[in-house]
Amino acid sequence: MKGQRILNLFTTSGVTILRDVHDCSPHDLAGAVMSLSTARKYTRLATVFFGPADSPKVQRDAVALAEARQLSVEYLEMVNKHAKKLTSRGAAWKLRAELIAHEGTLDEVNEFGKLRVTQEGGDKPKQRGVRVGRAIDGLRTISITDTQRRITDLEKTLDAGIKHDEDQPRSEALLEPFWDLVEGNGTGLIKPEYRTVIAIGLDDFAKVSCGKGDEVIIGLSDGTTMTGAEFINAAMEGALGDKLYVGLFHPTAGPVNLYEARFASDKLRTLAMAENLVCPWPDCNVPADRCQVHHIDAHKNGGHTKPSNLTMLCKYHNGVNDDGDPGKPGSQKRNNKREKGKPSPGKPKRGRMRRHRGKVRLHTPGGKLVGNTHDLSSMGAMDLI
Ligand SMILES: [Zn+2]
Repeated sequence: MKGQRILNLFTTSGVTILRDVHDCSPHDLAGAVMSLSTARKYTRLATVFFGPADSPKVQRDAVALAEARQLSVEYLEMVNKHAKKLTSRGAAWKLRAELIAHEGTLDEVNEFGKLRVTQEGGDKPKQRGVRVGRAIDGLRTISITDTQRRITDLEKTLDAGIKHDEDQPRSEALLEPFWDLVEGNGTGLIKPEYRTVIAIGLDDFAKVSCGKGDEVIIGLSDGTTMTGAEFINAAMEGALGDKLYVGLFHPTAGPVNLYEARFASDKLRTLAMAENLVCPWPDCNVPADRCQVHHIDAHKNGGHTKPSNLTMLCKYHNGVNDDGDPGKPGSQKRNNKREKGKPSPGKPKRGRMRRHRGKVRLHTPGGKLVGNTHDLSSMGAMDLI
């Protein structure tokens, strides 16, 4: 039965649930099946929608509409997450009403909410600085916020100092190079050399060349962006190296040019990086500089090493990508010793990368094609043409 019906009832009864919760103390709700912190989350949310408000009429109307639209608790939680960032009188309730009335899926309204908060000035930009935490169990944490350029240069310096130990988590591997740098044992910050691929469309390149560099934002395969003006400055200082890489891309076929070799050559790797400046797996943010070249159709299944069959994938997603022959479940890696990070038998399938209308997409086990919506994903070569 009933799982789906219960779930349906639960997800269409947000207002009903919160109305009842409003009469409870979190201590009434907490117990065998619910933690006190979850109970507090519900009661706090109930207080927002049924407690005192600075705009009681807007509140009443919005709650009535939410009930008529059968919105879920999760939806109302999302609405409140955005609205509470607005602090001027009446602003939060105005946004709650707007988001409750907004048509779209939860994810779409969530994106819209983020946008509206930014428009209303509710998101305080992060402040640059060094923050030092208190000691917990004998350990302390320090965190640094600065421009993407400075932090990425620091990251590259630390990366260069890693003693290649594949099994070490990245955070741990970066620690000793960090102290080497602080204690002055290294050679100081690495002056960045952009062997990193820069993706720039011809239109934008024309703009940059005629001095309108500040209008253009360029994506780099190390996960950062620079303005056209910074790009020109880097070129003048020689930081771009003597070669500028230009990849040739076809709007529907993807990268063009043909090679037959087992391992992707530098050129092919560069082309794949220019296409996807970050790992193309949905919601991943590993920059292409730290990704591996992945054969979309596995080499062992006859996939060629040619640009249209290659993409960058981060180590993790390269591992979980389902390389098996479609239609033969369980065939993959049957005879191989299980490689590290690869899905073991019985693990849920995560889907596989596909090239669809020229672009690299995740083909989910349910048959959906999903792209990565990371900011830099829309700045790669295939989105510039
Ligand atoms: Zn990834």
